[in-house]
Amino acid sequence: MCGIVGYIGPREAYPIIITGLKRQEYRGYDSTGVALINRDGLQVYKKKGKVAELEETLLGKPLSAHIGIGHTRWATHGEPSDRNAHPHTSASGKLAMIHNGIIENYGQLKQELLNKGYTFTSDTDTEVLLNFIEEIKKNNKCSLEEAIRIALKRVAGAYVILVLDADNPDTIIAARKGSPLVIGIGKGEHFLGSDATPMIEYTKEVVYVNDYEVAIVKADELILKNLGNERQTLYITKLDMELAAIEKGGYDHFMLKEIFEQPHTIYDCLRGRLDAKAGTITMKGVQDNIEQLINANRIIIVACGTSWHAGLIAEYVIEELCRIPVEVEYASEFRYRNPIVNKGDVVIAISQSGETADTLVAIEKAKENGAIIFGIVNVVGSSIARISHAGAYTHAGPEIGVASTKAFTAQLAVLTMMALKIAKEKGTITEEYYSKLLFELEDVPEKVESLLKNADEIKTIAEKYKGASDALFLGRGYNFPVALEGALKLKEISYIHAEGYPAAEMKHGPIALVDENLPVVFVATKDAYHAKIVSNIQEIKARKGKVIAIISEGDEVIPGMADDVFVVPPADEIIAPMISVIPLQLLSYYIGVAKGCDVDKPRNLAKSVTVE
Ligand code: GLU
Repeated sequence: MCGIVGYIGPREAYPIIITGLKRQEYRGYDSTGVALINRDGLQVYKKKGKVAELEETLLGKPLSAHIGIGHTRWATHGEPSDRNAHPHTSASGKLAMIHNGIIENYGQLKQELLNKGYTFTSDTDTEVLLNFIEEIKKNNKCSLEEAIRIALKRVAGAYVILVLDADNPDTIIAARKGSPLVIGIGKGEHFLGSDATPMIEYTKEVVYVNDYEVAIVKADELILKNLGNERQTLYITKLDMELAAIEKGGYDHFMLKEIFEQPHTIYDCLRGRLDAKAGTITMKGVQDNIEQLINANRIIIVACGTSWHAGLIAEYVIEELCRIPVEVEYASEFRYRNPIVNKGDVVIAISQSGETADTLVAIEKAKENGAIIFGIVNVVGSSIARISHAGAYTHAGPEIGVASTKAFTAQLAVLTMMALKIAKEKGTITEEYYSKLLFELEDVPEKVESLLKNADEIKTIAEKYKGASDALFLGRGYNFPVALEGALKLKEISYIHAEGYPAAEMKHGPIALVDENLPVVFVATKDAYHAKIVSNIQEIKARKGKVIAIISEGDEVIPGMADDVFVVPPADEIIAPMISVIPLQLLSYYIGVAKGCDVDKPRNLAKSVTVE
């Protein structure tokens, strides 16, 4: 994961790097560092902790420079500590490097270097790669650029690296495989980032570096080469992102801002695609592949984390509406387990960042076997968007809070539209039900808006249960994955152990945990199984569990049984998850805040999981 920033040009590099790192802290935040070259030579400052902590310690240091790189780490090799923080410096002290990813064969490379007498000051794979590059440069008496190309041919794993050379203070060399790298093009200046956030106030023109490309970045020149030293074409893309979209806009946390943005983000996702009155759904990626989708033998959904939960809901929706068998796979399992994928299968890959390492590899694997890949991602121009055959953006805007909220509901909106379009074309849905669902989908933003007006009720519930050490989340049907998502959110944000289960399944184990201290959250909106879930609530109450229920307006049964209820607007069961998940997002947010947790940067997590 980790965030990477670089700058070269006439401006002061340090403030650009620090601001860029703060914007990318969602990617990792266990240690921070910068390297600058100025008239005093190569300056490297690094420290365990967040960007602001490093910044404080640097007051008064010689930070003026026009070239620099910065890193916010998510440790993979070696604990978070000052010495493992990036940038790392080579044995000669001349080269400084930051790295995002994992060098899988670092052990072997390290041994080769140890045999040559190298010593190491950190436990990282990064320091090994840097010295490996330096060794090649020294041995072959070649340029740094050449040494990097040779070194990378021997490297297994994923990386973005940015390297500074004290003897060559007008160039940053960068390279990528498997982790993201964006280069912003200014007038006589260049910006580098893991995403585009460090550069948006300076330029809207960016180049997405591809795998196995090396970038030679000077203030007024950008050259891309492949590892065979051949020049590559620069494809310049226009950024569609504004500064305000990545700032907190008056909210205490990004997570809260993003929860409250959902009426707009769901609307943005539907806009231009859904027209309930006309009875149409316009999705070019779906339309262009409609025959393959209608005739798919099977749909396989690959995803991780919250996106995987969106996939589970989509499984129910697609099977119900389109009558196509669907399997939902954790990308990390799928990629290693020799899955059966054939021509005629469609793989839907879901990822907020579009950079999720496991999902990327899962896609490659499915592609090799002849499947059509349909990507559903939020970040425009991201790797998954680029390697998929077709796809749809979720248009939720930048999601900064580490726990996904608005990206999830936008994913559901896209998946539901997709299912409806396929069902309509395939003839597996009645005109009447199709039209009803279109109108219901169109109403979601308004319904979300209305339930958010009562967010304070969830705050009160959160105060009551913030001391819990465990929680159970239960739901049936379409609301079962919502329960999983509620449990995941609570774990991530408040560090309370939580489990999600199908409500009926709890009798096969989790019910043993129920006592008067256990909060049990039921996602119990009105659907075909409502009477069943009422019985499940009775079963919990009979064992003195505390029941918090998310219910539909007009439910007269559950309020008499539950300890606490939160009422949401009624919706068809296929549409309901986009609404019923929101109180669960709020619950974890308010409990996290009440416990004093850093909700935007929960411990050990990072947003965009670009390592395995
Ligand atoms: N593998 C490197 C380390 O552990 C980089 C991790 C990252 O991407 O932040 O330092």
